[in-house]
Amino acid sequence: MMLGLLLARAGVDVTVLEKHGDFLRDFRGDTVHASTIRLIDELGLGDGFRRLPQSRLNNVAFPIPGAGLVTVGDFASLKPPYNYIAMMPQWDFLDFLATQAAREPSFTLLMEHEATELAFDGGRVTGVRYRTRGGTRGGTEGTLHADLVVATDGRHSVLRRAAGLRPKDYPVPFDTWWFKLPRHASEKGAVAGIVPAFRDREAMIALFRDDYYQMGYLAPKGDNARIRAEGVERFREHVAALRPDLADRVDSISSLDDLHWLDVRLDRLRRWYVDGLLCIGDAAHAMSPVGGVGINLAIQDAVAAASLLAPPLLRRNVRVQDLAAVQRRRRMPTVVVQTVQRIMHRAVFVPLFAGKTPGPPPALLFVVRHAPVVRRILPRLIAFGPRPEHAPGFARRLQARDAT
Ligand SMILES: Cc1cc2nc3c(=O)[nH]c(=O)nc-3n(C[C@H](O)[C@H](O)[C@H](O)COP(=O)(O)OP(=O)(O)OC[C@H]3O[C@@H](n4cnc5c(N)ncnc54)[C@H](O)[C@@H]3O)c2cc1C
Repeated sequence: MMLGLLLARAGVDVTVLEKHGDFLRDFRGDTVHASTIRLIDELGLGDGFRRLPQSRLNNVAFPIPGAGLVTVGDFASLKPPYNYIAMMPQWDFLDFLATQAAREPSFTLLMEHEATELAFDGGRVTGVRYRTRGGTRGGTEGTLHADLVVATDGRHSVLRRAAGLRPKDYPVPFDTWWFKLPRHASEKGAVAGIVPAFRDREAMIALFRDDYYQMGYLAPKGDNARIRAEGVERFREHVAALRPDLADRVDSISSLDDLHWLDVRLDRLRRWYVDGLLCIGDAAHAMSPVGGVGINLAIQDAVAAASLLAPPLLRRNVRVQDLAAVQRRRRMPTVVVQTVQRIMHRAVFVPLFAGKTPGPPPALLFVVRHAPVVRRILPRLIAFGPRPEHAPGFARRLQARDAT
């Protein structure tokens, strides 16, 4: 959606295909980092963005048995106004971007259009085949020809597979089970917090929604069968033990069907493109949930792609070298973030899920607590990431007061 908005602002004819009828997907991430908020301001959309329902995350902290919380990222130490992470349901953010993009005459969004295959001419990708869902009206099939196809179809990308691109998988020690718990009226005013709770071989995070908590239960990969075999009552006990403050409402988990299992993946394509097709976002690199960076990295890819590709697209002459330039620009930040995630997996989650520590290793927390350089760098690294992108000149607008 971001790439569509940016290219349309450059005057490129752009069509976004979305297979679903809306963006309302439960259990999607919330974290809009400072790099993305700054970008939204550069696009002149800051006022409308800030009017969306959201809460502010001012720091990231870990609980330490007997020692309270250790803050690993104090965003308040960053320069305002980009000194927080916005917690916002992904569907609100996508609806907002879609509304802004719809104002550009060269932008088209086709909902309920599922890309199924690539169209080729010789060795070059020349478009996508799609089918519409149509429901009772009956679906149709068609081909959309294009000078460039960008696969932004997520971590199970159909188009990446159709192009013969295979990602390299990295091992991940845990999976996540998402579910909801009610949020009482008296808890409404609370500021967002995602302090994880740790116990022997399990962990839990809670994201704030308007009238419920989005809970993520983390346990070793392969434990889905164990959870199902143990049954709902045992799962409620796990939740209550991890979050005694929420134990009064675990009965709202009526069955294990209320759990949404996320098979966590971390992978990356060696080559993000073939002639006529480029992969970005999760289609090029699925991210671990550690750090909540997936949305933001995908958006940074989109900005880099728009900046580098709008001129050749306007000339209608996109070469393979142009696509390679996008990968060159975005590979380093992706590798850095995924490497940090893999280190965190090894340092925190592998020992936790092996039952060796009840939380992050003390050595790691000592460094975070006592090394001033780390304390200074960490919030910036989390909030902006390596090589944050800025809006290209052609996409910048002065703040539009009616941008809602
Ligand atoms: C449960 C969960 C929680 C997460 N939490 C966070 C978080 O807190 N913070 C964060 O930054 N990241 C989070 N992430 C990761 C983040 O959602 C992704 O990294 C990010 O959305 C990637 O963006 P994308 O545009 O590349 O792909 P996606 O967001 O996956 O978008 C792909 C889109 O393409 C559509 N699509 C798929 N196939 C087709 C097709 N064949 N034809 C047409 N349309 C298609 C999909 O419906 C979808 O709308 C989470 C992910 C999950 C699954």
